[in-house]
Amino acid sequence: MTAYRELSTDYLRANPLPFHENGSGKEARGRVLVISGNARVPGAAILAGVSALRSGAGILQIATSASVAPHIGVAVPEAMVVGLSETCGGEIDPANTGEIVSLAEGADAVVVGPGMMDEDALRPLVMALLAGTKARIVLDAAAITCLRGKLGSLRGGSSRAIITPHAGEMARLLQTGRDEVEREPLQAAHRAAGHAEVVVMKGAETYVVGEETWRACFGSIALATSGSGDVLAGILGGILARGTDSTLAALWAVCLHGEAGRMLSVRHGSVGTLARELPDEVPRLMANFE
Ligand code: AMP
Ligand code: MG
Repeated sequence: MTAYRELSTDYLRANPLPFHENGSGKEARGRVLVISGNARVPGAAILAGVSALRSGAGILQIATSASVAPHIGVAVPEAMVVGLSETCGGEIDPANTGEIVSLAEGADAVVVGPGMMDEDALRPLVMALLAGTKARIVLDAAAITCLRGKLGSLRGGSSRAIITPHAGEMARLLQTGRDEVEREPLQAAHRAAGHAEVVVMKGAETYVVGEETWRACFGSIALATSGSGDVLAGILGGILARGTDSTLAALWAVCLHGEAGRMLSVRHGSVGTLARELPDEVPRLMANFE
């Protein structure tokens, strides 16, 4: 049995997010780049991007597939949106890797993968980001699973990579069965932990393995809904961009996401919450914990 600490809101109150002076500009709160292009799930970029801003990031850029970029720009008028050539499946073409890495060089935090499914198209980009950027990087969805059989390649960028798999994605990354991960999620998180700076093993209970190991039981069934993980990845990116240490950022993000789900389930009932409603809860929750 591996030991873990139980995450509580008291711990977060004792370890606050960076304070930003009233007179400081948006640059001081950090720039987030969300890389999320998929013509079939364009909303994932919106969920992650809005969540990053709601978590206090100062500037948002979204790199996405050209066919959906104008729509995302209208849905998130606060974002600078870069439309990129796409594969026949509607995802960002790997030929754009150089341009995206240049964008990432100007970012404080990069969130890559929400809503994305094409591992082959994503792999060159993820490898280049891990090798070539100084920003902290959140890998989600296919940006995690594209590294199956290449876990060691996370090690090169391990000082900056945070991975946020659910059980199915963790099973694919570790090349094992989903039932095995569901049976022993903490053990699976530890297997991946040697390779990334922080592992956020998502589920009804979420384990965060970084400098220490934590269990978070904040959530509610309200979070078991489409797009919920895209919101978590965005919150994490926003908190990282503000200059928070990676493990603490993951703990804050899991807590804010879980508490947002709980607040909405109190208001609406246990099911029926939409993922897009979660980010709006975040600023008030952050203020309450400060
Ligand atoms: P994803 O599957 O990527 O959309 O992520 C789902 C998110 O919702 C993760 O952060 C999970 O930890 C959370 N979640 C899913 N089901 C539950 C549940 N029954 N209770 C609490 N949190 C959940
Ligand atoms: Mg997901």
